[in-house]
Amino acid sequence: ATPMSIMTATGRGAQAGVLIKNAEALERFEKVDTLMVDKTGTLTEGKPRLVAVLPQPGHDEGEVLRLAATLERGSEHPLAEAIVKGAQERGITIAEASDFEAITGKGVIGIVDGKKVMLGNLKLVTDHGIDASGFLTAANARRDEGETVMFVVVDGAIAGLVSVADPVKETTPAAIKALHELGFRIIMATGDNERTAQAVAAKLGIDEIRADVLPQDKARIIRELQEQGHKVAMAGDGVNDAPALAQADVGIAMGTGADVAIESAGITLVRGNLDGIVRARRLSHATMSNIR
Ligand code: ADP
Ligand code: MG
Repeated sequence: ATPMSIMTATGRGAQAGVLIKNAEALERFEKVDTLMVDKTGTLTEGKPRLVAVLPQPGHDEGEVLRLAATLERGSEHPLAEAIVKGAQERGITIAEASDFEAITGKGVIGIVDGKKVMLGNLKLVTDHGIDASGFLTAANARRDEGETVMFVVVDGAIAGLVSVADPVKETTPAAIKALHELGFRIIMATGDNERTAQAVAAKLGIDEIRADVLPQDKARIIRELQEQGHKVAMAGDGVNDAPALAQADVGIAMGTGADVAIESAGITLVRGNLDGIVRARRLSHATMSNIR
């Protein structure tokens, strides 16, 4: 590629909020056939809202939410924020937790009012030998709406469920359609469960999903796709996404995301939505075909 044509393309990109790091990123992007996207914060707003508290008989809704919010005050996860905010909006007084521990990709644990409380996904619950089979019908009904369900465990038994919704960004459906038209195979990766992931993917027409993925697994999934001969771009926004962005042939960071994600990326989307990927692809294509 000539320096001039690259400069024109990166200049045009920048005007549209698509920051292309260097010539290499632009050249590589033209060869990408597979686009992996993180769900939370990339396809969705990344600002989940508490939508339901479902206490188990014998437990009170306010109490289940108070225990959940008390634990989550120690976490910086977007799900934690949703639960704390939901409790505050409902006028619930949050208590103090001790022995707090966050378990990546699973949830949080601590002591509240002398009780051992846990809040998180099915993995967290089954890791502790707790039987959740009686709760799966209720959980799945919410997951089929694209919600994320968490289990609240008090002294070794499930006391209730809390459910949050993270709406899809307004720009996502049209961007996915345009990306398909440009020939990408689109894979959604998420730490969320299979059922929720499936509901979101079906609504958007995403080709494939990888659900229940731990943050450290995303880079491995990309490596496997590359070993199969694919050229892979990965779009993500979180601190946890940085290794996957670095592993990808082209890492694409949301400009609204974590600094370390942006540092690991070849392309940064200042506006924080997927429209920028459509733009970047057209620029890389135009630049490269000019040169040939
Ligand atoms: P992602 O960013 O792809 O949604 P994470 O690895 O951050 O994935 O989280 C995966 C899952 O782990 C969440 O969907 C949730 O079920 C559970 N989890 C993680 N952190 C928390 C937390 N602080 N409170 C409750 N659940 C959590
Ligand atoms: Mg994330």
